[in-house]
Amino acid sequence: MNKQSPYIQILREHGHRITQARRIVLRVIEDAAGHYTSAQIIQAVEALDPRVGRASVFRALELFTRLGILRPTYIRGGMTPVYVLMSGGHHHHVICSECQVIHDFDDCGLDDMTRQLETRLNLRIDGHLLEFYGVCADCQAADA
Ligand SMILES: [Zn+2]
Ligand SMILES: [Zn+2]
Ligand SMILES: [Zn+2]
Repeated sequence: MNKQSPYIQILREHGHRITQARRIVLRVIEDAAGHYTSAQIIQAVEALDPRVGRASVFRALELFTRLGILRPTYIRGGMTPVYVLMSGGHHHHVICSECQVIHDFDDCGLDDMTRQLETRLNLRIDGHLLEFYGVCADCQAADA
């Protein structure tokens, strides 16, 4: 139990201290599978430890984004970003354009494309976000 988060390891490798705010924000994001707005993250952090302030949460989110642990996305179509966890450097969605239901999947099979892009553009790729849009079975049935 109390398994060490791989993201704590990333923080350490980059020479960042593991503050209480950073630890709690990571825990919230990992428990949420990474589909939280900053407001939802602040609320969940407050529930776990009221001593962690909003400013610390925002700074932690900024740092995690910079380190590639999280990415802000606009999957729910609002002005407020939803943070997703970049597990293994990537994150993938299939989203129903009608009811907005989101399916996550892990096996993108994009390793070859990544290598080719790196060679063609002569750069190093650290991660990617991938989204497919479509219509889920329920919405197709409702349309029919
Ligand atoms: Zn749907
Ligand atoms: Zn996701
Ligand atoms: Zn991928």
